[in-house]
Amino acid sequence: MYREGRLYSFTSSVDSDMTTDIDTAMAAIFPSPGYLDQAAFERYIDPSDRKMVYESVDDSYTTPDTKDHAKLKKGLEAAAATAGTVANDKTGLEAVFGNGKRPVLTMGKLWSFPSITNEKYVTTAQQNYRTIQGRLNYLATTIDTNISTDYNLDSQETFLGGWAAYDDQELFIMSTVVSDPETPRSKTILLHEAAHLSNSDIKDYVYYGTSGYESAEEETKINNAAHYEELPRRDWGVSKYAGKTFTPGVSGSGKTTTTEEKVKNETVNYYRMAWDAAVTVHDLLKYVYIQQVDGESLGDTWLEEVKTLARLLEVSQLMDLTLHEQSKVPPQITLLDVTTAESIARGVGFVEGYVKPFPDGTVPDLAMTVRYAVSLSVDDALAAYGGLLGDAARDRKLVDWLHDHYKNVYV
Ligand SMILES: [Zn+2]
Repeated sequence: MYREGRLYSFTSSVDSDMTTDIDTAMAAIFPSPGYLDQAAFERYIDPSDRKMVYESVDDSYTTPDTKDHAKLKKGLEAAAATAGTVANDKTGLEAVFGNGKRPVLTMGKLWSFPSITNEKYVTTAQQNYRTIQGRLNYLATTIDTNISTDYNLDSQETFLGGWAAYDDQELFIMSTVVSDPETPRSKTILLHEAAHLSNSDIKDYVYYGTSGYESAEEETKINNAAHYEELPRRDWGVSKYAGKTFTPGVSGSGKTTTTEEKVKNETVNYYRMAWDAAVTVHDLLKYVYIQQVDGESLGDTWLEEVKTLARLLEVSQLMDLTLHEQSKVPPQITLLDVTTAESIARGVGFVEGYVKPFPDGTVPDLAMTVRYAVSLSVDDALAAYGGLLGDAARDRKLVDWLHDHYKNVYV
């Protein structure tokens, strides 16, 4: 964040006090390492400040404005129509998902045993696209109950396009998708998230356009949301791979994936997972913040409360937040904590772009050497970016923690 030469989102709005820049706040609250100045700390959580953060944080999770409904409905329906079209594109489906088969358990009739049959990936993909079409059309009629967004632009800061919760059939999308839903970019985000809602097996394994995407295995692609983007993107003129046929294990150059490319793919994937967890930590802090301001406890049960507190203190130490330094029990989440977590999520998002491949032929193709090379590459990217906390060892500890807590931040 410092090296971008810009202020944090909370402090850079038109009516904000520009002197509350994070550098100033940090220097005041922590005059020397490990020492929290309680008086300065109280200043930063004075009632007017808290109101500002609360309003902003509260805006980070809200239903789309009524004025945006009609447009959003059109965007969802347009994305649905394209999902329906590509479901019938057998040639396209085969180019993306391959011509292999996968074993499927068939229950059969009441009096027969279940059996294993082989189903073509193309058939599965076709069914998934039809379900995606159905989900998008359904969402077009349930905007008020099933879709949420943020009008405080948090997602833009942390590079989050959206998320989807299969169990509740809930879709969260960044506000630019809500305000401008008919662009190819917005429709792509809607379709990607609808893929998660259509089938609980569809998760994220490799993002669109990142290393390892083209060469992914068939069994990965069929359950990877970003691979459902490709045919619609071709339709909308925003594909990076127009007209291409993907071959597992073969990279863009047409050559078999080298060990060095595998190392790069794994490192990029490591940072994808760490970034996802960092965004979730930011979400958790905002969630607990709202609970605190509303005078509610940290969880529904005392056990949940104790566990949440432990998790908050854990991330506070890892990310240099203020919680573990406070004398209050439970500690109060502050503007500084929320913005620091946001800047870390943003930073981890940037680091992924600094992953460099090893020169060809320098990594022996052994599980152990690949693992070691990935580890070196993780450090190298952090250093190339310029670090997150100003200490290489602590940076590594933090990103390892994030990577290891992928989809496991909430307790
Ligand atoms: Zn996804």
